[in-house]
Amino acid sequence: MLNQALDKLNEYFGYSSFRPGQEEVINHILHKNNTLAIMPTGGGKSLCYQIPSLVLDGTAIIISPLISLMKDQVDALQTVGVSATYINSSLHTSEQQSRLNGMVDGQYKILYVAPERFESVSFIRSIEKIDISLIAFDEAHCVSQWGHDFRPSYRSVVPTIQKLQMSPPLIALTATATKEVINDLKRLLKVETNHTVVTGFARENLSFKIIKGTDKKDYMLNYIRKNIDESGIIYTPTRKITDQIHSFLISKGIQAGRYHAGLTEEERQEAQVTFASDDTKVMVATNAFGMGIDKSNVRFVIHHSLPMNIESYYQEAGRAGRDGVDSDCHLLYSAQDIQLQKFLIENSSLDEELKRNEYNKLQSMITYCHTSQCLQSYILEYFGDEQEFSECGNCSNCLDDGYKEDMTKEAQMILSCVKRMGERFGVTLTAKVLKGSKSQKIIDFNFHHLSTYGLLKQYTEKEIIHIINYLVADSYLAITDAQFPVLKLTPRSINILKDQEKVWMKVRDEKREVSSSYSEELFQILRGLRKSIASDHGLPPYLVFSDATLKDMARR
Ligand code: ADP
Ligand code: MG
Ligand code: ZN
Repeated sequence: MLNQALDKLNEYFGYSSFRPGQEEVINHILHKNNTLAIMPTGGGKSLCYQIPSLVLDGTAIIISPLISLMKDQVDALQTVGVSATYINSSLHTSEQQSRLNGMVDGQYKILYVAPERFESVSFIRSIEKIDISLIAFDEAHCVSQWGHDFRPSYRSVVPTIQKLQMSPPLIALTATATKEVINDLKRLLKVETNHTVVTGFARENLSFKIIKGTDKKDYMLNYIRKNIDESGIIYTPTRKITDQIHSFLISKGIQAGRYHAGLTEEERQEAQVTFASDDTKVMVATNAFGMGIDKSNVRFVIHHSLPMNIESYYQEAGRAGRDGVDSDCHLLYSAQDIQLQKFLIENSSLDEELKRNEYNKLQSMITYCHTSQCLQSYILEYFGDEQEFSECGNCSNCLDDGYKEDMTKEAQMILSCVKRMGERFGVTLTAKVLKGSKSQKIIDFNFHHLSTYGLLKQYTEKEIIHIINYLVADSYLAITDAQFPVLKLTPRSINILKDQEKVWMKVRDEKREVSSSYSEELFQILRGLRKSIASDHGLPPYLVFSDATLKDMARR
């Protein structure tokens, strides 16, 4: 049967081989096993159920959370000659009925529906009459309340299926690989561990970068102008910011589109189509844009602010470079962004336990912005990706050859201060004590009498906060969670206090990226050279020359 799968891959899609994980997933499905496929965005999840749908008899039902995607997927399938269709609320009732009839007549190999469809009696009656080859849950993290896009209507699908007098294999596909989501899906869909396929999450063609302390608008404008022929997405946390950035770019002569849930269906459709066809190069959007967009030549994804968690960040950033070509993922970070995310969590409809979970995830996202570790490896560790991966050599931390200072003394002062304050307070108040602030809260708590009061007064409060966050990122300090963040000492703290370990870090951010002017063309040529030198010698590229050095060369 696997031969048949390969034939279909050739015949319909024109590909000669499977990507990592695809074959294994398809194999499990063809043997009628419930299967869980966890693959990164762009990893090729759709083919995992489309190929078995073509090999097996009957109709495959694909449950997909976004109506806008169904049409794209179905169009693409019809173009290559697969009989596919979708039924959703965007269609007139008579059209829905006629497609249902078509399904009962066995006209379709693949049918896309939204989870809500399983609440419709006429739909259930119809599928009872047909031969179902498989049922796939695309974007399956929406089934789990631990996922980042929980859709309650997904919950009722499984019990409904179980009541049917048949047991087609169930397939869950997602790019979210946290333990909670995986366990939840395995339990809900009754997937055995050896039918769970997780493929590597490393995206070697993506260059991750965190940018702090710059004017965000200037940065974006500059970046876009330097990459004017490239296609990219700018993600913002709110509709309002989307609108602001969009008008700003337009006013500067950039052809940008925008997308968020506050626009009409037609406006969104229009924005999506012009972006897909490269008529607009830059899309400014909220996270409403993109789940499953199939545009492979996105060269950059810029996050205007701190995302809510690593899951959403990696999924959104992962929309860059799906064709395997080198692409940039830049995150513009400022500490104020944290407040907005906290506000969004606090005002969400989640119950207390789930809120706490969101706060923990937010804390990991904040830590990402302060770590000195390779950013790609940080993300892989977060997802528990155990495949061998040391450093990408291409992220802002790997490439950072900025001047680092010995900050051990400062770290010792911070740790002592946390201890003296009884390990009961957060980052901001601790920073204020060290700065020697005269704020009311300090007086109220009598902190101006502490021996650590004002010890770091030569630094700005912002810099002290940065050092503290850095200590947290490298586990010299722990933070309870992001809701009521309290600093605590860790086993590693002792090493520093006893002078057994040193802390090296960059305290003052340079604005190298914004002010630099160099020939981008020459820079790219040098980068290509570096890559081939590196691979000849089996070295990571950053060991040959750093990006900063290359830019220096490109200046002459
Ligand atoms: P995902 O749903 O995992 O984000 P998609 O299913 O949308 O990813 O696939 C991403 C891209 O990869 C698509 O353009 C698809 O055609 C392509 N692709 C998938 N499988 C293969 C393969 N075996 N060989 C070549 N390209 C593939
Ligand atoms: Mg997909
Ligand atoms: Zn790296």
